[in-house]
Amino acid sequence: MLTSELSIKEALQEYFGFNAFKGNQEKIIQSLLQGNDTFVIMPTGGGKSLCYQLPAIMMEGCAIIISPLIALMKNQVDLVRSYSNNDDIAHFLNSTLSRSTIKQVKADITSGKTKMLYVAPETLKKEENLEFFRGIKVSFIGVDEAHCISEWGHDFRPEYRQIKNMIAQIDKKIPIIALTATATPKVQSDIKKNLELEKPNVFMSSFNRANLYYEIRPKLTREQTINQIIKYVQENQGKSGIVYCLNRKSTEEIAELLSVNGIKAVPYHAGMESATRSKVQDQFLMEDMHVIVATIAFGMGIDKPDVRFVIHFDIPKSIENYYQETGRAGRDGLEGKCIAFYSYKDIEKLEKFMRDKPLAEREMGSQLLAETAAYAETSVCRRRFLLHYFGEQYDKENCGSCDNCLNPKEKTEGKDYVMMALKTAVAVNENYGIPYLVDLLTGKRTTEIGNYKHDKLDLFGVGKEKDAHFWNSVLRQCLLSSLVYKDIEQYGLIKLTDAGRAFLKKPKSIKISLNHDYISQAADVQTQVSVGKSVLDPVLFDMLKKIRESVAKEQTLPPYVIFSEASLEEMSTTYPCNLDELSKVSGVSKGKANKYGLRFASAIKKYVEENDIDRPNDFNTLKQVANKSVHKIHIIQNIDKKLPLDEIARMRGMKFVELIDEIETIVSSGTKLNLDYYLNEIIEEDLQEEVMDYFREMESGDLNEAYNELKEEGLSFEEVQLMHVKFMSEVAN
Ligand SMILES: [Zn+2]
Repeated sequence: MLTSELSIKEALQEYFGFNAFKGNQEKIIQSLLQGNDTFVIMPTGGGKSLCYQLPAIMMEGCAIIISPLIALMKNQVDLVRSYSNNDDIAHFLNSTLSRSTIKQVKADITSGKTKMLYVAPETLKKEENLEFFRGIKVSFIGVDEAHCISEWGHDFRPEYRQIKNMIAQIDKKIPIIALTATATPKVQSDIKKNLELEKPNVFMSSFNRANLYYEIRPKLTREQTINQIIKYVQENQGKSGIVYCLNRKSTEEIAELLSVNGIKAVPYHAGMESATRSKVQDQFLMEDMHVIVATIAFGMGIDKPDVRFVIHFDIPKSIENYYQETGRAGRDGLEGKCIAFYSYKDIEKLEKFMRDKPLAEREMGSQLLAETAAYAETSVCRRRFLLHYFGEQYDKENCGSCDNCLNPKEKTEGKDYVMMALKTAVAVNENYGIPYLVDLLTGKRTTEIGNYKHDKLDLFGVGKEKDAHFWNSVLRQCLLSSLVYKDIEQYGLIKLTDAGRAFLKKPKSIKISLNHDYISQAADVQTQVSVGKSVLDPVLFDMLKKIRESVAKEQTLPPYVIFSEASLEEMSTTYPCNLDELSKVSGVSKGKANKYGLRFASAIKKYVEENDIDRPNDFNTLKQVANKSVHKIHIIQNIDKKLPLDEIARMRGMKFVELIDEIETIVSSGTKLNLDYYLNEIIEEDLQEEVMDYFREMESGDLNEAYNELKEEGLSFEEVQLMHVKFMSEVAN
């Protein structure tokens, strides 16, 4: 066995072609080579695999690497083989192999050619395999993705619990190296205990991803959120990004809306065939597609270094998931923006999904969700919060790269409040979690509090002049300042640290800031929206109507064909000052803006300047497109393909009349549709001309009136409607 420093470096150069180790790699390898149990917590991208691959090659015998996923196993083996000139160096053993391959694998191991064997825990468990391993020299056991051992990890695998037992059946003295990319202090403790690691050397790398920017935005309405996403992606054209959603429907809808906005986007979810899925992955890697709108199924084993943004349309189920998914941004160390949309309603929805799970699982799930909500609502540095969650202290006052640090909330003196919170925790023997303490502080008489007679405590209701939101903020900040911690054995119970006890004896100044209150923010916006309608500028509206009249006269067209009343109302609310802005008004297409818009836009511009009007600065650039449902987009696409209308109706599961109504809405909102391929089949061209003339002279645009006139020509109501669509498309849009 080679253990001198020089020879490890030589081996690194010889087997992997690297000149230097990254981070803790060398120390970890030393520890394992010396036969110690070793525990490695290293975020993805830190070079975790090398920590066991190099010693496996250097040590006598074959290392057994336990890995939870067959797909990852194959990847790892391919990777190891790519560094070596002999394929026997690494093998995997799992249920997908044929009998004869298994035989070959075992022969290679026995002959000493194979240095690493990847196995799934289910395979290791088989008696015939245990028997085989007893007969060979096993250099060490590697437990990859070790967090799968803990129910508190985000992908718990019950079989992982039996690993120690299996190792014992092979040989009690084999050293173990456990590796994971995510582990909270609780999960770390579970791993050590469960694998019975003997005085392990623990190597924890920092989880700080300095190049990532973290931001949480309130999720007010679905539509508004999707608009914000489209806008963000448009402003970042050409950059690669991932948008995460919880369900399939959202992935499809958002991908479609991004596509019609000129972005190369495609959905990705578990319901797709595996061939399609790998095609999507390739397209993303090759940059044929810029944005993947995915459920969490996407990303495993994908290592694209230049993902520039990760957007969460739905908040993830746990901070572990959030950290892992955001971690896919900026792997190359350059820009990586992580924006998540959060609404407490989403947390409640996720809680409902767990309804049918066993009680223990449900309780754990809601604790993880509570942590996620606390992260989203916190007003302290997000980086600090995240790192604290993984057991790491981040001391910088301002990280400079999260929304809370860039827009800090005002802080107030919290000494007295912190005292109240700490005293309350002590008064109930440090045996309760945050929600219970908040109830005590605010004096809420719950059944549980009644049962324990805690309403008889002197401190009961001591903080009742403040609300639950306030006390949640205080307790969270006590955690972050390490005045209290969460107990590992009985997870979630709040205990005082030494610093907390010192604070009780000698309180000192501590600044606190209130959490974000997204719920009332959402309520505010809703009222704003309803107020929005009444802020229509009546003077401007009258002006625009007059302009419309004169344009209509010049063009010898009815006024409604120029712009609808609703479009004028919107213009009188949002003040579009150029053609580009005008074309964002609903009912105004680009073509229509160019055709008739100039006089409107200049008049508005002049009006705004003369009256010194403060325009809404966030011009809603996407309204028009986002208002089109996926349904409408399909109809437009199919008409472009010249499919017969009855066929389109059948495909969309609509009645024919419903389809025509839908087509009418599409056209009246400013989109051009060419129905000639269909109309020419059913209406003589002369008659079509006649009907077009009729519409040109018609004042009101009332279709019933038109039908009464035109039915004498033998036209049905639907045909009149379709002709009106043609008219609007050709003349108005
Ligand atoms: Zn920060």
